[in-house]
Amino acid sequence: MTSEIILSIENLKTYFFTKKGIVRAVDNISFDIRKGEILCIVGESGSGKTVTALSILRLVESPGKIIEGKIILDEDNLLELSPHKMQDVRGNKIAMVFQDPHSALNPIFTIGDQVSEAISAHKSCNKEDASSQATQLLELVGIPLAKERYHDYPHQFSGGMKQRVVIAMALACHPRVLIADEPATALDLTVQAQILDLFLELRARFEMSIIYITHDLGVVSEIADSIVVMYAGRIMEKGGSRDVLGNPVHPYTKGLMGCLPSEKGIIIPIPGTIPGLINPPAGCIFHPRCVNALDICRMERPPMTKITDEHYVSCFLGGVNG
Ligand code: SF4
Repeated sequence: MTSEIILSIENLKTYFFTKKGIVRAVDNISFDIRKGEILCIVGESGSGKTVTALSILRLVESPGKIIEGKIILDEDNLLELSPHKMQDVRGNKIAMVFQDPHSALNPIFTIGDQVSEAISAHKSCNKEDASSQATQLLELVGIPLAKERYHDYPHQFSGGMKQRVVIAMALACHPRVLIADEPATALDLTVQAQILDLFLELRARFEMSIIYITHDLGVVSEIADSIVVMYAGRIMEKGGSRDVLGNPVHPYTKGLMGCLPSEKGIIIPIPGTIPGLINPPAGCIFHPRCVNALDICRMERPPMTKITDEHYVSCFLGGVNG
């Protein structure tokens, strides 16, 4: 991995303007991803992980709106690009793999035709070339007997194999950044492990940067170079995976780690639930669930504090809460 920053998210705010009020789904977040890095965004459901990904691709649908911030790729602020240029970015620089491979594939076309179509959509090539490249991509993502299976339909593939096909389609444009939103969550554990291995292989082979979204800290420990911990639309802690997992500072990160089974199989859940985002708690948004909360935590939003050059936390206790 190099230190070259590929994508920078700066002070991003994405709100949903609903009849009940404004939902601050992503509320002032900043992070960078480097070339060849796997960055995991981790948090519970409702923490803003997926909205962050959709914001990067400018795919947030009404009543959602990106209201502030910058998303810098190749010195361009993606939020200022014309719809046409943004389409080009989505086609050629950033691709996304969603959680459910079943809905990403069209049941009436063969697997090969769908991958081939994804290739033709991004570069001009004749049908034969597209078909041969599609076979190569299917081989690359680990579809056995790719040439024969090219002519199969989605229903003839298992969930894990379908997800490999969807990843092949995402790779069709040789993206520099691949965003994967819980790509293995719907799959059984063995297949999950194979899909994680595939992402590691792709990173090693193409020096691709991968943003991997998950609620599962076990997955994060397997693949992350760096970690962004999100809660209720905000970043609680971010840094290199060794720092965040080896020396977690934020009470929420520690709480998530308590949700992993210990050697004795003990799980300590975080008490309470994620708050509503229309009228979020004042001050630190985690304070209603935080066992360390101080008076100031109920009144002021904690700033992002540097612990080391690569490790930051948003907590008044900074690095001193043991
Ligand atoms: Fe807990 Fe206060 Fe830190 Fe928030 S700022 S996580 S309430 S100690």
